[in-house]
Amino acid sequence: MVVVIKKGSEERQLNNLISWVKGLGLDVNRVDGENSTILGLVGDTSVVDIDLINSIEIVDKVQRIQEPYKAANRKFHPDDTVIKVGDNEIGGKNFTFIAGPCSVESEEQIVEVAKAVKAAGATVLRGGAFKPRTSPYAFQGLKDAGIRLLLEAKKQTGMPIITEIMSVAHLDLFADVDIIQVGARNMQNFDLLKELGRSDKPIFLKRGLANTVEEWLMSAEYIMSGGNNRVILCERGIRTFEPYTRNTLDLSAVPLVKEKTHLPVFVDPSHASGLSRLVRPLSLAAVGAGADGLIIEVHNNPECALCDGAQSLRPEQFEDVVNRVKVMLPLVDKKI
Ligand code: PEP
Ligand code: MN
Repeated sequence: MVVVIKKGSEERQLNNLISWVKGLGLDVNRVDGENSTILGLVGDTSVVDIDLINSIEIVDKVQRIQEPYKAANRKFHPDDTVIKVGDNEIGGKNFTFIAGPCSVESEEQIVEVAKAVKAAGATVLRGGAFKPRTSPYAFQGLKDAGIRLLLEAKKQTGMPIITEIMSVAHLDLFADVDIIQVGARNMQNFDLLKELGRSDKPIFLKRGLANTVEEWLMSAEYIMSGGNNRVILCERGIRTFEPYTRNTLDLSAVPLVKEKTHLPVFVDPSHASGLSRLVRPLSLAAVGAGADGLIIEVHNNPECALCDGAQSLRPEQFEDVVNRVKVMLPLVDKKI
């Protein structure tokens, strides 16, 4: 339930209302937006008498929220959420490039790719240390050593880093990681989501391979209901009957999710297609659809990559994507 407060209301009256609602056993999420103050009431709101709240002097209107996701709902928070990571502001009118290899393979590799993607325009470095591979015989990532190498690349380039977590048990290893990624395969690992809800780090939540938009937003709600509102969503393609691409990029999800939530929405054209030659057109399409950023796999030597070489761009191809996206940004009212 959302309670919209009249402009210019007294803080004292507002605090009285908040205490009264909390006394009913509900949590209150206060958002001071540009145009209004909104109280989001979370919990069993059947105990609330809407007419009674409506009759309070400072209340402009009361609205029940039908959707099962509350904190992630745009009705709770009409303005776009902007998440600060290092010098980056993610979301709102900002457009952000995250780039780097699928997996961290060696110090030489990650540092070289980090320098190259930074020079091309990326402002966050990606690299997998714990890899969720379909086959147990495939390269599983360098694990804690991989995180140490990412931190070395961060030291040398100044770029914040994002890497995927697979287990709650590894959380301590992520202490110096700037953004924690929850991969598609873990989107509904509810114990992990709950634990990340207690963290203060931004969480990059990828859409599951076969999950609906509502399930995806409910996973964001798991994190947010624990107190961590710094969630970034990422559409990375869903499984359909089409075998020519690795997944099917659900581009319509981008404007749809931006309508339903206030969270930043990214697109991953690399995992969506599995084909490096499709990354550029899908990137441009994602910008047109209103994405807040792109996460793109870039490798200095894709033929020899230990994971996802076929979908990885070379640094110069990534730079070409960045330059073309820059031309498009004014059309979608965004800036780098
Ligand atoms: C990745 O980003 O390397 C990855 C494994 O992505 P996804 O979870 O989207 O498959
Ligand atoms: Mn990958």
